[in-house]
Amino acid sequence: MSLARATVRLAVVVAAIALGGVAATPASAATCNGYVGLTFDDGPTGSTGSLLSVLQSNGVRATMFNTGQNAQNNRSAAQQQVAAGMWVGNHSWNHAHMTTMTQAQMQSDLSQTNSAIQSATGVRPQLFRPPYGETNGTLQSVASSLGLRQIIWDVDSQDWNGASVSQIVSNASRLQAGQIILMHDGIANTRSAIPQIMANLTSRNLCPGMISPSTGGAVAPDGGGNPPPGGGTCTASASYPNVWGDRYNTSVTVSGATSWTVVVAVTQPQRIVTTWNGTASLDSTASVLTMRSNGSGNTFGFTTMFNGNSGGRAQIRSCTAG
Ligand SMILES: [Zn+2]
Repeated sequence: MSLARATVRLAVVVAAIALGGVAATPASAATCNGYVGLTFDDGPTGSTGSLLSVLQSNGVRATMFNTGQNAQNNRSAAQQQVAAGMWVGNHSWNHAHMTTMTQAQMQSDLSQTNSAIQSATGVRPQLFRPPYGETNGTLQSVASSLGLRQIIWDVDSQDWNGASVSQIVSNASRLQAGQIILMHDGIANTRSAIPQIMANLTSRNLCPGMISPSTGGAVAPDGGGNPPPGGGTCTASASYPNVWGDRYNTSVTVSGATSWTVVVAVTQPQRIVTTWNGTASLDSTASVLTMRSNGSGNTFGFTTMFNGNSGGRAQIRSCTAG
């Protein structure tokens, strides 16, 4: 597995000025020293909506390896995956042991699956995960002829094998930059593990990314093989200049780009209530803010209500230039 490392400089942030008589908390030098690929197989299912809401409230974009049959039977759930910012891949038509198939059967299975996923989502898959990770040279060449890059995994969460939430979190903590973890749609423990998985990744300056169809490794979202104009990466640093009894302000400064999109998350039940100096978009829980530059300079801010959680502070999830 080749490591896809972003060249991100960690900014040193000077302590911000305290107003209102309350000491400012130390600033955090955030951003991503590397990316990992979170993958969820075997959907879309009746619980895809629950999975997506957990992912969105934690600021996560992931890759969903769908079966063709499930995409055909759950078209709206497949659409929701893409609408929620997820990438969709091909996981065969109905999860057969594909190495027992003839070349013609493989071809038919994968192309039928591509069509069902494209029909439901409008997106043609570029990634293929063989069911059970079982593959051979014939299957790889068939996939390749259909424009599909085969993706296995580096870390198995064991969620399919009855792993507890803490075991899933512990397995995910082995992820290194560029690597990919196997998880599944439709498993409650997997959904419950996501906040802790994200806390662990954030503590190691790792961010969820996309899987590059050209290298097969995890890279910055929309940065693999198709970097946006303007360089792709930037650095965002958060500081907390004002803290009151019921709320606090976060100030974010972007360097390395004049046109940018920054994703910031607060820990629920905190809620972001006001923003300035950017074009803001909040998720349904008001805990994940996507801020785009709007010509007001490279510093933006927002106010967050504690709602009973006065310990947490907003953290940068990603900074994308262009
Ligand atoms: Zn599977």
